[in-house]
Amino acid sequence: MIISVSGTPGVGKTTVSKLLSERLGYEYVSVKELALSKGIGERVSDEIEIDVDELARVVREEFSGRNVVLDGHLSHFAPADVVIVLRAHPKLIAERLKVRGYHKKKLAENVEAELVDVILVEALEENERVLEVDTTGKTPEEVVEEILTLLKSGAKKRVGIVDWSEAYDEVVQYLMLGGD
Ligand code: ADP
Ligand code: MG
Repeated sequence: MIISVSGTPGVGKTTVSKLLSERLGYEYVSVKELALSKGIGERVSDEIEIDVDELARVVREEFSGRNVVLDGHLSHFAPADVVIVLRAHPKLIAERLKVRGYHKKKLAENVEAELVDVILVEALEENERVLEVDTTGKTPEEVVEEILTLLKSGAKKRVGIVDWSEAYDEVVQYLMLGGD
């Protein structure tokens, strides 16, 4: 089974994916590392740009029939059996990305993406089975437990569990609102 763990940068994908893969005895695969090793990621300044069709092809070739947890904000474009979309209060995203040294523009882009459900909407377009998990106020261990319970329950879809519209005022300071 291929489990994609996606979500806005800073949401906790890598932390949760590693823990989840250990708990399940699955391989842990980072989309970024995979892309670099397969030559489908192009370094553009400090980031890598990945062609999502190429990513889907590589994952199909390498991992079909294997048990893997695929970590990355593009992992929902891979042919996964299930996509876990992690969510976190946009303020947490802002604080974590600030600590990571993200510049104003990238920080704004990502806070906004979390605010308006960008990854969730994309995941729903790409995959039949999408499970959304709110990490806010939970430990990574608790998040992993929730994922394991959801997977075990056989739930096909669990979406619409967060609404960050109330969070807008708390993060408006980070947004660029059309300016730059
Ligand atoms: P991503 O891979 O999505 O960019 P990371 O896993 O690298 O995110 O970073 C998330 C940060 O948030 C880590 O410092 C992690 O310890 C912290 N964190 C706090 N609570 C959680 C949680 N419930 N789930 C995942 N990460 C959490
Ligand atoms: Mg990560």
